[in-house]
Amino acid sequence: MQDVIVITGAANGIGWATARRLAADGARVALLDLCAHQVQGRAQELGAAHLGLACDVTNEASVREAVAAAHAHFGRINGLVNNAGIGDQSAPTVLQSVDAFDRVLAVHVRGSYLMSRAVIQHMLQVQATADGQRGAIVNIGSVAGIAGIPARNAYSAAKAGIAGMTRAMACEWARDGIRVNAVAPGYVQTALVEELAAQGAIDMEGICRRSPIGRLARPEEIAHAIAFLLSVKASYVTGVQLPVDGGWTAAGCTDSALND
Ligand code: NDP
Repeated sequence: MQDVIVITGAANGIGWATARRLAADGARVALLDLCAHQVQGRAQELGAAHLGLACDVTNEASVREAVAAAHAHFGRINGLVNNAGIGDQSAPTVLQSVDAFDRVLAVHVRGSYLMSRAVIQHMLQVQATADGQRGAIVNIGSVAGIAGIPARNAYSAAKAGIAGMTRAMACEWARDGIRVNAVAPGYVQTALVEELAAQGAIDMEGICRRSPIGRLARPEEIAHAIAFLLSVKASYVTGVQLPVDGGWTAAGCTDSALND
């Protein structure tokens, strides 16, 4: 039977690359994003088998409606990618806006929680495969949830929170045949990073020097890892956070040791 995968933040960047990749693999995709017009256009680009829906992942009613609409349309949901995200305010902690801090936590942590909670009810109804599998969830962490980045404490807290939630949900649903994993990208060439660079919050050249692979990731490279974790090839993988970071978190050396 065809996979039916819900992706949040699917109109841009990593989410859009993931939608393209999963559709190419034969899945039917429900693309969710803030702007109805944009996300419906993306779904049309993918083809008639796919669906675009407006959804604000921080809003419980919006999440409930979008997930119900996806389920009504496809008749089942066996995959979820909690990808929707926003960048951090970039300011010293004492100068940060509390509202902006709360917003980062809300989109990433509350959003992943609300979406998982809404989707799991449908996943639990999926007929299990011969080896007991019903579905899989992939959350999006970040290297910022693994190591400290000055002035980005809300984003770091949100991404570390997602890693913790991934482990908790993985253990809760493992015996129901539902796997929950996360990918932790390094810096990826998307609008989110371009905006941070434009604000002067990140130094693109410095990032490339600090990264063992020496460049940013392409969104498709993150999509490949997400597709793997959703697939039966990852049937014994649950509760992990896979860094897809060009060696960023592996490196404990100075830039000069990486660059000859
Ligand atoms: P983009 O900004 O390119 O895309 C994110 C999408 O999420 C946008 O379409 C955005 O809509 C949407 N979105 C934002 N808030 C909400 C919301 N409340 N409800 C639904 N959709 C929402 O970001 P990326 O592709 O770069 O990031 C995707 C994920 O990957 C995020 O979780 C991010 O934190 C994570 N990540 C990204 C990295 C990077 O270097 N790019 C590195 C590590 C992790 P709109 O444009 O209208 O705001």
